[in-house]
Amino acid sequence: AIEVRNLYKSFGDNEVLKGIDFHVDHGEVVCVIGPSGSGKSTLLRCVNRLEEPTSGTIMVEGVDITDDETDLDKVRTRIGMVFQQFNLFPHLNVTRNLTLAQIRAKKRSKSEAGEVAARNLAKVGLKDKATAFPAQLSGGQQQRVAIARALSMDPDMMLFDEPTSALDPELVGDVLDVMKQLAKDGMTMMVVTHEMGFAREVGDRVVFMDGGVVVEQGKPDDVLGNPQHERTKEFLSKVL
Ligand code: ATP
Ligand code: MG
Repeated sequence: AIEVRNLYKSFGDNEVLKGIDFHVDHGEVVCVIGPSGSGKSTLLRCVNRLEEPTSGTIMVEGVDITDDETDLDKVRTRIGMVFQQFNLFPHLNVTRNLTLAQIRAKKRSKSEAGEVAARNLAKVGLKDKATAFPAQLSGGQQQRVAIARALSMDPDMMLFDEPTSALDPELVGDVLDVMKQLAKDGMTMMVVTHEMGFAREVGDRVVFMDGGVVVEQGKPDDVLGNPQHERTKEFLSKVL
């Protein structure tokens, strides 16, 4: 679970997050939507301290990650991250992409890591791509490899930052299907997305951000179907 309280983040004079309260419960899928520049990625990146919060607290599985005493590497191995850019290692084949961090950070043997990799490749529908190199795969396949790589670390939760935004439209569905299955399996998920269909169908909650604050949140049907705030209405009129 994630619990963010009164989070502020500035870059120089630019105050990007202005007192965010946000949480993702165990097994919950929370979709974060909002205009470009509203602070969605910054919030997500604060959750595993890729960004240093200016003030506020962030608890991940009960551990305060803003505390200097906290072992960040340990916390980070429990959080799977998937970005718009897949960031696979181009010189390593798919299996090696999936085993590298397991061997280094989880101290798994090569064969154990290989078994975990094979299991997760099957999960994302790419069992037959184990020896392929990233450049030989479509964008959608690469993104599914990135998801399998994150899953191979046995994370307690997964954070997605616009995982389908860089994909050709016809490749988006396969990636969303994998995410849908993950949600069904009970994974705790924070998903920054422009895919309103996904948010509506898979999200347990939708959070609308604008100008560094949470403007409104609630059940997808309520927020997307019957928004209460003018800013939400205006945003949705542009994207729906
Ligand atoms: P998008 O939908 O375009 O991805 P976003 O909601 O994810 O937008 P952020 O990436 O969180 O928005 O950016 C919010 C604001 O913070 C923007 O004004 C951006 O310029 C600024 N910002 C983000 N990262 C940095 C950084 N590393 N240094 C300086 N400013 C930054
Ligand atoms: Mg962003």
